[in-house]
Amino acid sequence: MPQSFEVRTYGCQMNVHDSERLSGVLEEAGYVREAGDDTADLVVFNTCAVRENADNRLYGNLGRLRAAKRENPGMQIAVGGCLAQKDRGEIVRRAPWVDVVFGTHNLGSLPTLLERARHNQEAEVEILESLDQFPSTLPARRESAYSGWVSVSVGCNNTCTFCIVPSLRGKEKDRRPGDVLAEVGALASEGVLEVTLLGQNVNAYGVEFGDRYAFGKLLRSCGDIEGLERVRFTSPHPRDFTDDVIDAMAETPNVCPQLHMPLQSGSDRMLKAMRRSYRAERFLNIVHKVREAMPHAAITTDIIVGFPGETEEDFEATLDVVRRARFASAFTFQYSKRPGTPAAEMDGQLPKEVVQQRYDRLIELQNEISLEANQQLVGSEVELLVAEGEGRKNAHTERRSGRARDGRLVHFTPEGETDGELRPGDLVHTTISRAAPHHLLADGGVHRHRRTVAGDRWEAGQRPKTSGVGLGLPSFGAPSDASTESTAEQGCGC
Ligand code: SF4
Repeated sequence: MPQSFEVRTYGCQMNVHDSERLSGVLEEAGYVREAGDDTADLVVFNTCAVRENADNRLYGNLGRLRAAKRENPGMQIAVGGCLAQKDRGEIVRRAPWVDVVFGTHNLGSLPTLLERARHNQEAEVEILESLDQFPSTLPARRESAYSGWVSVSVGCNNTCTFCIVPSLRGKEKDRRPGDVLAEVGALASEGVLEVTLLGQNVNAYGVEFGDRYAFGKLLRSCGDIEGLERVRFTSPHPRDFTDDVIDAMAETPNVCPQLHMPLQSGSDRMLKAMRRSYRAERFLNIVHKVREAMPHAAITTDIIVGFPGETEEDFEATLDVVRRARFASAFTFQYSKRPGTPAAEMDGQLPKEVVQQRYDRLIELQNEISLEANQQLVGSEVELLVAEGEGRKNAHTERRSGRARDGRLVHFTPEGETDGELRPGDLVHTTISRAAPHHLLADGGVHRHRRTVAGDRWEAGQRPKTSGVGLGLPSFGAPSDASTESTAEQGCGC
């Protein structure tokens, strides 16, 4: 009987994508995904070290699995990801029923470590200090039929004082452009319409092979990939943002009019304390240029409130940038100490009430701005990529949901000019009828419905599975036919 497995993922998109790789590696090693509600024979935790109390949560979850393991002695538990990279052997000291601990640099070793733990009847802890192979050279079992992640780089050369990523993910490693494009092409050839290029700092892409314009070129090359309709990326760093990327975004039709660029603070003093080497004016200047080139672009951001030493004046500076930048939306975070980061040791940690009060003010302002921006879209026609599971109230409202090209979430009434059943992965056109700060409504029905290969595959229960072989193509340009050959039929982030 093949062993069943389940991967439980915490944290950012980088982890979500790593979990696709873990699933791919395990399936290739003969494990099968647990389909029902039973506890699987193998449970893998892909952890995150960024959130406060991440370790308490992990040990709580591990504690709950202890009884299941007693009932099924053949069961194995593995812990990977950032918290494993950080806590290493401490995990098996605190939870001796864990079988394998692996880090962020050796995802591909998981089946071997499980085998070794089974054979030796003792826990295996293997943490590498640097990547043994780029994760994208591993097979991946994709979660979505219509939308996929593709890593361009892993790690980060910056040293933002609030961030644990550099110490856990290591220095930036860039993937060769030909390999990135081959993977994007392979996904497109399986019907995937939308690809998000992923890296901790995508604008630094190319630093390893000496081409500071590499990211812009990569975007343009994505424009040549047949069948690929939407290209997004996350996350850029304002320091490394060059004008050629804006030009590439504006001039490449399948690159979406959307930019998620972390601000973190609008105060230059705070940016300096965070070791973010740009200043508010530079940030606003990039926003201005993006709007000039793409007037309808939706610009979103991340902001930290209550960083150590933040004064009322510093916070006002953040509000000022928020007013001037007019973000479509912002992911706002209350600063909390992350052990192992320089900021956790800084003087001037703020009382919770002060942070909460500033946070509430920021949310109120951003909600006003988001609502105003969304109201301006009422009456406009949008193209939506029909999504699976994006609308929590859909069962009640009988609406469906999808993302517009600029990334906005739209809940729509699935009536009108539809060509049969609407499936996730299909494309529809509709008109925005109402706005809220965090979503839009389109209740006038569908004007056009395009059935897609992604929709067919969703309906057939097929998900793309990329083989992960690094094809080593040396330069830019659309991948060759051989490299884009479908692999599905052969059974294969700040
Ligand atoms: S916040 Fe982003 S840019 Fe800064 S160190 Fe972390 S990953 Fe790098």
